[in-house]
Amino acid sequence: MAEKQSKQNDKKVTPRSEDFAAWYNDICLRAELADYSPVRGCIVFRPDAFAIWEALRDELDRRIKKTGARNAYFPLFIPQSFLQKEAQHVEGFAPELAVVTHGGGKELEEPLIVRPTSETIINHMFAQWISLPMMLNQWCNVVRWEMRTRMFLRTTEFLWQEGHTAHATSEEAERETLTMLEVYRQFVEEFLAIPLIVGRKSAAERFPGAVETYAIEGLMGDGRALQCGTSHFLGQKFSKAFETRYLDDQNQMQFVWQTSWGMTTRLIGAIVMVHGDDQGLRLPPTVASTQAVIVPIFRRPEEGATVLAAARAALESLTQAGIRARIDERDGMTPGFKFNDLEMRGVPVRIEIGPRDVASGEAVLARRDQSGPESKSKASLATIADTVSNLLGEIQKSLYEQARAAMTANTRKFDDYSIFRKHMETEGGGGFADIYWCGNPVCETRIREETKATCRAIPLTNDGIAGKCLVCGEPATERAYFAKSY
Ligand SMILES: [Zn+2]
Repeated sequence: MAEKQSKQNDKKVTPRSEDFAAWYNDICLRAELADYSPVRGCIVFRPDAFAIWEALRDELDRRIKKTGARNAYFPLFIPQSFLQKEAQHVEGFAPELAVVTHGGGKELEEPLIVRPTSETIINHMFAQWISLPMMLNQWCNVVRWEMRTRMFLRTTEFLWQEGHTAHATSEEAERETLTMLEVYRQFVEEFLAIPLIVGRKSAAERFPGAVETYAIEGLMGDGRALQCGTSHFLGQKFSKAFETRYLDDQNQMQFVWQTSWGMTTRLIGAIVMVHGDDQGLRLPPTVASTQAVIVPIFRRPEEGATVLAAARAALESLTQAGIRARIDERDGMTPGFKFNDLEMRGVPVRIEIGPRDVASGEAVLARRDQSGPESKSKASLATIADTVSNLLGEIQKSLYEQARAAMTANTRKFDDYSIFRKHMETEGGGGFADIYWCGNPVCETRIREETKATCRAIPLTNDGIAGKCLVCGEPATERAYFAKSY
């Protein structure tokens, strides 16, 4: 066992400040979130990562259902001709498609596409079922062939939910698009403790086939943005392509107005990159499959019985209070080794119980969101459940506040293009640049080509004060957030 311990300790985690990408990979592997798969571009979700996905899926599912949408399931295979019906849609997805040409030992009459998203097949069904409003959601996997992959953030197969709605009027569909954007914002900020900027996408960043795309964007620990969810107003583009019509009050056939919205397993990557530190993961209590771990500490076997009895009693009261807790009873490991391991896994609260603690009716609590002496406190064993419950609430808040402070410190206004360009070249990820932009795609392209930053979001409300485009100097009425992104 001693040998196994030293081997694990040998695998040093790359410091986050030294090489963010290497650090991220180290954490995903060492915290046992994911592993490489034999198929290039795909990953295996290990139980600790899947538990995070289950927690966020359950909560998001609850919030989606509250808006009136219901879950359904559409097939993994989509006829190739379906994708071709909407020109921008097929053009946008063509390079990423996986195509099935053979089945049952024969060449297929029509090739099948492995679902990259379901707008087309859902429209095909909507056209036959029409009854407005239609509000469906599905939890499934999708495939988009990726050349450059990164665990959770960009993989050929990933998991997501995709919501699809159809409405009688444009206003109703636009309202639904913004309702879901707000559901996503609240969910990510409250449940994942990740602060966001919210806004509309530029034409260049829009979903293929959408009239308007809205997104929530988070800022990762290296100063790069990550799109955490999108909500699209599809207008009538798909309904016209698929003849999805309804009979209005005047007995006229009208094309429906549609939306779609989605969130993916890349949120697991966002949790790692926003909250993690050099010691490992730091999980928001809401998504942690284990919120508190009790580590019994004793040297002599005769102390063991007393310490373990106290640990079990504490576990009982924590469990009764609805806290997801367990005892770390692993043999042959020093407490120090267990502490490091639990920190790597991001367990929000560690509870240390030794013989002297039992004698004084106390335990030592260590909170993962802080480090050093201030992370530790003493708690009475008699009221441990209340104390831990309050502490979990504080940790959730403090992780959000720490991330919010980092995002604010990394969001800058620029009014000089050369300074902006220099900043984006030299300052690592660069953070969010809050700038005036005239809206002309030419200026956006120049920014992308010269700095690698793209338009992440145009805020839904602006102060109405006009300025000058950072790039061309022409009058600009809106500010926009630009950043390098994943
Ligand atoms: Zn301009």
